[in-house]
Amino acid sequence: MIRTLVTGGAGFIGSHLCERLLQQGHEVLCVDNFFTGQRSNISHLLRELRFELLRHDVTFPLYVEVDAIYNLACPASPIHYQFDPVQTTKTSVLGAINLLGLAKRLKIPILQASTSEVYGDPEVHPQTEAYWGHVNPIGPRSCYDEGKRCAETLFFDYHRQHGIDIKVARIFNTYGPRMHPSDGRVVSNFIVQALRNEPITIYGQGLQTRSFCFVDDMVDALIKLMGTASGVTGPLNLGNPVEFSMLQLAELVIDMTGSRSTLTFMPLPQDDPQQRRPDINQAKDVLGWMPSTQLTEGLQRTVQYFKDQLQLGG
Ligand code: NAD
Ligand code: UDP
Ligand code: UDP
Repeated sequence: MIRTLVTGGAGFIGSHLCERLLQQGHEVLCVDNFFTGQRSNISHLLRELRFELLRHDVTFPLYVEVDAIYNLACPASPIHYQFDPVQTTKTSVLGAINLLGLAKRLKIPILQASTSEVYGDPEVHPQTEAYWGHVNPIGPRSCYDEGKRCAETLFFDYHRQHGIDIKVARIFNTYGPRMHPSDGRVVSNFIVQALRNEPITIYGQGLQTRSFCFVDDMVDALIKLMGTASGVTGPLNLGNPVEFSMLQLAELVIDMTGSRSTLTFMPLPQDDPQQRRPDINQAKDVLGWMPSTQLTEGLQRTVQYFKDQLQLGG
């Protein structure tokens, strides 16, 4: 039996990952400080004997015995990571150091949940792993972007200097059940607004684009990446390459929910990337993976989740 540590395991992606690893027969140690994670995301796993929950902040050292590490601990939505930006950078940087130290002591593989934000507001489209990015080092998104970039640096230096088996995943916008209803991300915002027949908040003109990956597809990819031979380090773009503007997304959500919501236009946040789409050719080659859930299907499952959360029935 493989003992797997998932940091950030009570969060949106982390809880799905814990669940899947348990299904695959792993013993799972979920470490989370509940900054943005929720007990309800993992409460159904607590009765499972192979599941263990540890409340811990990854900016502090962690001495446990495991066979593999998925490092997902970090707030991911702009309003959450900008709430305490110093803690966000500490989580990425000190968290990486502590978990890499753990991987080094135990000689085990470690996967980093990096992000498309390492490309910043990209001047290359679609983004390939070879692109170094266009990131403001002193803006409101920098605590997250630069924290994640520094974490990637640490991962590659631990790999070169100490021979650690690293796997760096650059995750593009991911959505699905268990997103926090008030975390301000576009998919959760639009669905919650549509279900309540409240105005849909479009930032800027809504022409900026994103490419949305359903969480089940993302979990598949993360597990496949962890399963690669040592020496396969990434960075690997993981995401769904089908690109939508925020206006298109709003229209789709209104259609699917039969909502009476109208659109309301609000200022575009500073440094908001104008376009984003992953080039996933490397992931296809290395993992034999590509996402299989179309946006309409994934949104339907997410809408149902929020209906249940908001107790709207249906
Ligand atoms: P999330 O906010 O739902 O999950 C993050 C989890 O980390 C939460 O449970 C939170 O409580 C925990 N956490 C935060 N700081 C911590 C700390 N110092 N110590 C221990 N736990 C801590 O976000 P998510 O969407 O599930 O994202 C998971 C990971 O994937 C993050 O690292 C994020 O940067 C990355 N990612 C996500 C997306 C996306 O679209 N969802 C895109 C790119 C990268
Ligand atoms: N660390 C940890 N758990 C371990 C081993 C290390 O949390 O099982 C932390 C510890 O705080 C250490 C950091 O990881 O400072 C980096 O470890 P490394 O061995 O690279 O460096 P050093 O111990 O020399 O600081
Ligand atoms: N966005 C929007 N309305 C909202 C929330 C977000 O128009 O209510 C836009 C936001 O400006 C950005 C895109 O949707 O251009 C994706 O935002 P999100 O916070 O989900 O993710 P990220 O910017 O980190 O990709």
